[in-house]
This record gives sequence, structure tokens and C-alpha cells, in this order.
Amino acid sequence: MTLLLKNVRLETGYLYDQTFVTATKTNIFDVLIENGKFIEIAPTIEASNAVVIDAQKQLLVPSFKEMHTHIDKTYFSGEWKAPTPATEGIFSRFKEEAILLPKQLDVAEDRAHAMVQHYIKKGHTHIRTHVNVDPQIETKHIEIAKRVLENYQDQITYEIVAFPQHGLLRNGHAFLTIFEKALQTGATHIGGVDPALVDRNSGEVLKTTFRLAEKYEVGIDIHLHDRNTLGEFEIQQILNEIEQRSFQKDVTISHAFAFADLPQQSLDKLINRMAANKVGLTTTVPIGAGPITIPVKYLCDRGVKVSFGHDSLVDHWSPFGSGDTIQKLNQFVQRFGYIDEWHIGQSLKYATGGLTPLNDVGEQQWPKIGDAANGLLVDAVSSAHLIARQCPISTVISKGNIIHEEEIELEGEFR
Ligand SMILES: [Zn+2]
Repeated sequence: MTLLLKNVRLETGYLYDQTFVTATKTNIFDVLIENGKFIEIAPTIEASNAVVIDAQKQLLVPSFKEMHTHIDKTYFSGEWKAPTPATEGIFSRFKEEAILLPKQLDVAEDRAHAMVQHYIKKGHTHIRTHVNVDPQIETKHIEIAKRVLENYQDQITYEIVAFPQHGLLRNGHAFLTIFEKALQTGATHIGGVDPALVDRNSGEVLKTTFRLAEKYEVGIDIHLHDRNTLGEFEIQQILNEIEQRSFQKDVTISHAFAFADLPQQSLDKLINRMAANKVGLTTTVPIGAGPITIPVKYLCDRGVKVSFGHDSLVDHWSPFGSGDTIQKLNQFVQRFGYIDEWHIGQSLKYATGGLTPLNDVGEQQWPKIGDAANGLLVDAVSSAHLIARQCPISTVISKGNIIHEEEIELEGEFR
């Protein structure tokens, strides 16, 4: 498909007052997309064979990546139900899941569809979902997630993390055999959760995780809620495994609350090792009274790739996920007190896999000819405006095709 976007606003640079960025410069272009790539960007383009869309000066920004969610056990699109108190912490949830998830099996597929469709509507063209593999649900959720996501493979890319939510080793050898079966049926990553707290044996759990990841040639993405020096210890163990094995696949730590707790020296040591080993971090940007927000920009400035995820769109763990990444970016900049054009606009990278229209010195770096044509038309005049004012998305473009469009009233810079 050839797609010609007329009258598209692209960011072209920053305006400065001495060294301070006061505004983002933009210009209006035509953008030609073919075979899933940007092939021409010019003031005027004519293409007789193209589907033509008049963007009416809307801004084009990179599309979003949802880097941590659970499409397999959601209440989303079902009836409202608030989570119950977790009197035994995470173990309360395991007991709950043993009854709840088998009961939800006959609606799980429809709800997973509803979640994926919601994410697409909200501008996501990539989804990484963790999917339970536990003694009750075995590989049933993996099969559901695979079946659902395959329906959208022309529209989005996705990753499936086989997630031993109830521990990897504490349920015995029989469970490990089931878990391996999940890895044979299309998981791209191995998950995990607080191996010191849940399995009471983080060393063995992590060794097994890396051994299986090597065997099945998959990445790793581990939930780590453990705080302070226990979390630090587990992160060090993960880094030890990577270094000892020269592990090549991608490794991500999700949540990693310990980064909010550690004293400066320990923090810097850990960050340097994370960056050297290219270990990524995914955060939901928690702002509640419990988990503290990790120092996102500090980590990123020191070479750690940080991504955002919603984790859930309402389930028995949390009632809050919105799937609205513009809202999450807004929550993030408010949480850290970023009020200027540069800080707000550059924050977009946490939601886009690192892409921003301008680099940090204001040079245009996206879209470039040959880049994958994944983008959003938004009623905003800059990335900062989009985030600060939570401007709406009218068009979602993925792999060079329009995968979602909605009617919005254009207000441009006055929004
Ligand atoms: Zn999670």
C-alpha cells in the first residue's frame, strides 16, 4: 500500500533563549509511505497511486510500545470488580488466581481481544504481554494469548513472556516440565517474579531461568518488586548470570523498585553494570503511597534503556490501568516536576522504544527516509504539547497502514 499524508506537521528544531529551549519549531510537509516505510518527505509530493490523507497540520509522532502488560487475566471489558486486600502480600494473589483464572477461562479470549483493540486505539503498535504459566492454568493462557495476538499480526508486533507467576521451582519438577512446554509453544521471553521472596531461592531460580533462555533462545523479563538491598541483591545475581554466560538475548527488569531505595553509591554501581550489560527497565511510573517511582531520567541519562508499561487494564491486582500512554507520560512529567518544552517533549522516548522526533540538541532524527512507518497523527503542535495537554490521537499508522482512525475536533495550538 502507498499512503500519502498531506499537510503533516513535523518537528524540525528547538527555539532557544540563550541555552534554554523555549519552543519547538515545526514545518508542514507531505509524507509518502510505501511497503511499510517512509520513502519521501518534502514540502509537496504528488503520487497518483496513493491513498491520500489530509492531516490538516496535525503532528506526526512515533507510535507507542506497551512494554509490560497482562492480556491473559484481565477484567477489562467485563464487569467492574475492585481488588480484594492482599493480606498475605503476593501469596494472597496466587491463592486467588488458583480459583479465579480457571473460572475466567471462557471469557479470557474475548477480554484479551478487547485489550489489544484498546491498545491499538490508544496508539500502540507493539505489545509485550506477560502470560501466566502456573500449576492450574498450565499452558492454556499461552495458547489463548498466541491465538489472539496472531489475529493482529498485520497491524502490530508483539512479544509473549511465559510468566511463572506462582514461582518457577516451588511447585516441583512437574511444573517445570509444563513451563518448558510453554516455551516450546511460541513464547519469546521467560518471565519471573521476586525469586527470593516467592521461591526463597533466587540463585537457583535465576540459574534455571538463564539455562532455559539459552536452551530456547529467548529473552528474559523478570518482575522485581523486592525493595532495597534484597532487590539490589537479585539484580546483582541477574547481572552475574549475564556476565558469566555472555548471555546475548535481551534482558529486562520490570518494576525494579530497589532503584528507588538505594543510597547513591550503590545506585550508581548498579546502574553502570545495567548499562554495560544492556539490561533494560520497564516501569509503570507508580505514584501511590507504596512503591516509589524509580529515578527514570537519571537511569536513562546513564545509559539504561527505560520503557513504560501499564501492567494491567483493571484486574484482580490493580483497578487503575488505562492503556492511555499519553496520560501515563503526563503522569510521569507531573511526578518529576518537568514543566518546560525540552523536558516534557524528550520524555516521549520512554513510550516509543527510544524514538523522539528531535534529539536532545534539537536535530531532527525522526522520521527519516527508510524508517519503519509506525506513527500517530495527533492534534498537537509539539511532543511537549501532546504530553502536557493530553492531546488526542486521530490516526494510528503501523507497518505503513492506517490501523485506526477517529473523528476529532481539531484545535491545534489552542488546545
Ligand atoms: Zn506485571
